[in-house]
Amino acid sequence: MICAILGRGRHAALAEEWKAAVEAGVELVELRLDCLRREPDLKRVLKERPSAMVLTIRRGADGGLWRGPEEKRQRLIREAIVAGVDFVDVEMDVAREIRRFGKTRRIVSYHNLKQTPPDLLEIAQQCEEMDADVVKIATRANSLADAMRVLQVASKMETPTIAIAMGEIGTFSRVLGAKYGAPFTYANFNADRSFAAGMLRFDELKRDYAYDQIDAQTEVYAVIGDPIGHSLSPPVHNAAFRAMGLNKVMVPILMPAERLKESLDQAAWLGIKGYSITIPHKQAVLPLLNLADGAVDRTGACNTMVLKEDGTRVGYNTDYRAAMDSLEAAYGGPGPEGGLGPLANKNVLILGAGGVARPIGFGLIRRGAVVTLCNRTEERATKLAEELGCRTTSWAMRAGLIPDIIINCTPVGMHPDVDDTPMPPAGFRPGMVVMDTVYHPENTMFLKLARERECRTVSGVDMFIRQAAIQSQLYTGMEPPVELMKEVVRRKLGPLRS
Ligand code: NAP
Repeated sequence: MICAILGRGRHAALAEEWKAAVEAGVELVELRLDCLRREPDLKRVLKERPSAMVLTIRRGADGGLWRGPEEKRQRLIREAIVAGVDFVDVEMDVAREIRRFGKTRRIVSYHNLKQTPPDLLEIAQQCEEMDADVVKIATRANSLADAMRVLQVASKMETPTIAIAMGEIGTFSRVLGAKYGAPFTYANFNADRSFAAGMLRFDELKRDYAYDQIDAQTEVYAVIGDPIGHSLSPPVHNAAFRAMGLNKVMVPILMPAERLKESLDQAAWLGIKGYSITIPHKQAVLPLLNLADGAVDRTGACNTMVLKEDGTRVGYNTDYRAAMDSLEAAYGGPGPEGGLGPLANKNVLILGAGGVARPIGFGLIRRGAVVTLCNRTEERATKLAEELGCRTTSWAMRAGLIPDIIINCTPVGMHPDVDDTPMPPAGFRPGMVVMDTVYHPENTMFLKLARERECRTVSGVDMFIRQAAIQSQLYTGMEPPVELMKEVVRRKLGPLRS
């Protein structure tokens, strides 16, 4: 179950938000009475109770807003218990002062906003001994090791335990708690108010993670990168897993560039079956693979890693195949088997010489295209061109060529700079095929200008979905629901598509 946190400055607003939450499908709320600007009026707050609730009055030291006297806070909690609220949250240092009464269940909590202390298990067990129905530990994770430890503690507890690693690095703990026995997880409800760093929204947990279906048997997949917060991979893969009837979930795990190896070793405790790998790890992961498919060897980049039963790490590059499939589709398909494909002998201009230009360049040359690289930093283009065996042109000359295909492999035009384009209008000619790898937004300025000049366009969304679909197949061995995956990407990118 997902517990949506409601904290408003006014009683009336709190009551309204409670109703709105229930209408949105929330079954359990946490009422954060410390957010009320006036002294909490319990009778008023508890008059109508549209759903089950946790009543919390959080002190400043624990991350709350309560600034009044401690006796008054404890008195209010006791009154709430007498009024029969479903749960009260009592901090471990005051738990003995506030006794059990009636049917109200006790969440005995420990918060640490600075760190995850080494004796966390002992602390959680002390909470357990204070007549707890539920133990809650929420500690700041300063590393992936901290975040892992929080879930490891939860897995060792006898009393149901909600274990939260606070901070962006711990977001996955808010999703995977259910696997280790958490009776519920906390979520923001109002999109404009976040109650803690790394906390997800109710609608994200419900729709993007299918949180209510996660249990001890759920198999874990991860998208790793730095940053990772806005990755589309979890919603896309989770929708596909559920549609295929598989008990699997993908979570984002932030892994800093310099700590990839140790991070992968630490995350292994989760039994992760597969990884989507994004910036900055696509090259760095290569020495950590036990096996790699031909595309990884050829492109020197890996964006997918599957773990076999015996722990063997197998790397794939689905960006490469997806980009080739997208381009060939623009010419009506891959062409006859054994014959020359539609990309053979095409003149292609690639803008950019980074991580995505490389596999695309390799793929095109393999298919017989004549590739010219063009990059803002010329030396980088020269270096990649030497590896690929192709030519370069200077950034200033990019609009002067008349290629058959232009591909943007720079992030220019990506949200929020949606009015930027890596190619001025003069660079497009009718009939050209123009592809953007940028997918946020889908309809970039680069593609808009190309269409105005009667070019055929291929969007970054098309490539993204194809690479995710190939990934999904590698994870599951099943045919993925591509249309559904498309719908999810478009829903997530919705407000920024054009
Ligand atoms: P990268 O390795 O950081 O390379 C970025 C490239 O863009 C470099 O060549 C860089 O040139 C150039 N560049 C950056 N800012 C520029 C600017 N303001 N003007 C001109 N050139 C600029 O990044 P990447 O991994 O290749 O990713 C590039 C894009 O591909 C991103 O938008 C990413 O989202 C997208 N992508 C899409 C998919 C998909 O499935 N659709 C998959 C992977 C990546 P310098 O050498 O001069 O810095």
